[in-house]
Amino acid sequence: MTTFKNLGLCDEIITAVDYLGFENPMPVQEQVIPFVMNDTCDLIALAQTGTGKTAAFGLPLLNLINNEKKHIQVLILSPTRELCIQISNDLKNYSQYMYGTKIVPVYGGENIVSQIKQLSEQPQILVATPGRLIDLINRKKVKLDNVKFLVLDEADEMLNMGFQEDLETILQSVPDERRTLLFSATMPKEIEHIAQKYMNDSKSISIGVRNSGSDNVEHIYYTVQASNRYLALKRIVDINPDIYGIVFCRTRQETKEVAEKLVRDGYNADALHGDLSQPQRDSVMNKFRIRNLQILVATDVAARGLDVNDLTHIINYNLPDDVEIYTHRSGRTGRANKKGISVSIIHTREHNRIREIERMVKKTFTKENVPSGLDICKRQLFYLIERMEHVQINDEQIDQFLPHLFKKLEYLPKEDIIRRFVSLEFNRFLDYYKNAVDLNVPDKPARNEKQKSQKESRYDNRDNRERASKRGQRIRMKINFGAKQNASPRAILGLINDVTNDKSININNIEISNKFTFFDVFADQSEQLINAFYRNNRSPFSLDIAKEGKRQRQYHSSENNFYENARIRAKSNKSQKRNSDKRRRNKMSRKRF
Ligand code: AMP
Repeated sequence: MTTFKNLGLCDEIITAVDYLGFENPMPVQEQVIPFVMNDTCDLIALAQTGTGKTAAFGLPLLNLINNEKKHIQVLILSPTRELCIQISNDLKNYSQYMYGTKIVPVYGGENIVSQIKQLSEQPQILVATPGRLIDLINRKKVKLDNVKFLVLDEADEMLNMGFQEDLETILQSVPDERRTLLFSATMPKEIEHIAQKYMNDSKSISIGVRNSGSDNVEHIYYTVQASNRYLALKRIVDINPDIYGIVFCRTRQETKEVAEKLVRDGYNADALHGDLSQPQRDSVMNKFRIRNLQILVATDVAARGLDVNDLTHIINYNLPDDVEIYTHRSGRTGRANKKGISVSIIHTREHNRIREIERMVKKTFTKENVPSGLDICKRQLFYLIERMEHVQINDEQIDQFLPHLFKKLEYLPKEDIIRRFVSLEFNRFLDYYKNAVDLNVPDKPARNEKQKSQKESRYDNRDNRERASKRGQRIRMKINFGAKQNASPRAILGLINDVTNDKSININNIEISNKFTFFDVFADQSEQLINAFYRNNRSPFSLDIAKEGKRQRQYHSSENNFYENARIRAKSNKSQKRNSDKRRRNKMSRKRF
């Protein structure tokens, strides 16, 4: 079996990893450590957080730097301040027995003057966010002429956050002869472009599976009425007394509301969203990291910089529109060889969406019943008893009180004492769940399936049967109402309701770009929608079927036929409308003469 020792690391590092409790190298470390130590070319590694990649590049780089030289030899770039601090802390831990190693993190949102002061202490390793580093370069406060290794950590995330230009500037500011180690969870074209332009003779490796698809994550869902979402969340938390997790919400407002309700109801929770100042964010994240907080309610964006490895649960208070986001969320649990659970609370019409996500992440989701009041009371009671069984008893302190206690309680039989102690802790649950109702609702088949089953017998002509079978297919639509015109999902739905006067139109997967909004609609409602927009002269917006390509989702061949037919029908409706308008105008002009 590979050990850290036979990977060639020095004794000081071996002692540190030992002290940190790392028994054996993780797979990424087995591959990357010898490569960095012995090879001379660059590295492109497809790896996610949680796979042990910080030690994979950190340990060999610590081994390779020359502590006697007081200039920056390793530059590590990270997308967020939180990751920057974490990498720097990890490296400090790994080098705690090395004499003279200095590691400095520099990142935005913090006083630049104190960071400049730290730089004057001449670190060998600089960990930086791109924006702050550019600022320091422009102020001529950082010298990168001696950089031998450049690490781009979470390179895809840096590009997602708009750092492409900064990255290119930095890549041009470090010596050409440095070695570059690029780590990324995905390989979009932009990363390939950077690799081609700025890296030499690189080796590519792919480590581990994406966390989301990891066997360590179990995916479960509960189906409730949308109005019972919060009650279901409470029950999920109550049935898991040891929960340490993140509840993901869609909006800042929802995040605030859910966290406030949880706190009011006595849970150890707090919110993380974009309305918090940086010190407030830091304070919430720190409390969560050190487990002073059990539940963090967060938006996807706000949770981006938070890296915690031993979460027991991820709860999707709402399913995200994008499967990628689901993947990111669930990948936050089940890390570092631990088990994790990704829970989704869905409402009755969302179970098709679950099937869609199942297909994309290639995992089966288990439907579970929202626990009853009785289930929760049982679980909480046993949890209390287990804690009682395992509590550490401070004999010295407690012994002095016992004679008085025994005397005071001698009139009570043992059973009565247990009953009373349990009630003391447990009455809150018993009272709350005394008349608890069943929150479960069966997964309602999507409207197409429901109508199919209810009306199947009535569909005896071919047209109707065809229409029924088309109902489950979705068509991607496009409207010239985008972010520039302040489009939001709510505004889009409002507009569609106004124009069609039909609230049963089912809109899904809304995606807003600058000029346009794209969304899915059931195939047999697409024509109704297009016609309503053509007929409506008040609406300044026009709506059409989205062109195939980037925005058009993939449909299988029979759906493609339908999609094509729908396009032709829409076109012919359009031309019919144009012709009838023309005829009307001609008629009017004839009348005038
Ligand atoms: P990372 O992917 O660098 O964020 O690491 C994920 C977690 O795994 C961190 O908490 C590390 O401290 C931990 N870790 C890294 N290497 C090992 C190892 N060889 N054995 C056990 N834990 C490790």
